[in-house]
Amino acid sequence: MPLMITEDCIACGACEPVCPNKGIRKSGVVYVIDRDSCTECVGFFSKQQCVVVCPMDCCGPIPGVVLTEEALFERARAIHANSHLQPTLTEQTSHFRATANRNSQTTASRRKWWQWLFWREEGSEPCSSVPANVAESG
Ligand code: SF4
Ligand code: SF4
Repeated sequence: MPLMITEDCIACGACEPVCPNKGIRKSGVVYVIDRDSCTECVGFFSKQQCVVVCPMDCCGPIPGVVLTEEALFERARAIHANSHLQPTLTEQTSHFRATANRNSQTTASRRKWWQWLFWREEGSEPCSSVPANVAESG
C-alpha cells in the first residue's frame, strides 16, 4: 500500500529527505506524499523510511490501495530510470522479503523446539526415542 500522511503531521520535515523517491514535500502547513511516487521504499529499504523517522506516527497506508511487490518495484525502476541509483530486490531492500524472512526464521526456531515431539523431516523415520541430550536435560 502506498502511504499517506494524516492531519497529525507537525511539519517537522524529518520524512522529506529520507524518501528514496523524493516523493514527500511540504504543502501548506503539513507534508504530503505523492501517491504515484511512493513505492513503500521497495527497491531501497526493508522498512518504509517515512514511518521509521516520523515522530507523530502519522505516515500510514492509503485505505483500500494495495500494490504487489512487483508493481512497486516496477514503479521504483521507472522513477529511477535515469539515475545512477538502481533499485534492487533483496531482504535489505524490500519489506515483503524482510517480513517473509522473519516469518521463516520464526517458524524454523519453533520447529527446533517442537521437532523432538512431533515434527520429522519428510521421508525420515518417526523418532523412536528421546535423544540423549534431551533426556538428560529433562
Ligand atoms: S514509504 Fe518510502 S517511498 Fe513511500 S513516501 Fe515513505 S519514504 Fe517515500
Ligand atoms: S516526519 Fe511525520 S510529522 Fe514530520 S513532516 Fe513528516 S509526516 Fe509530518
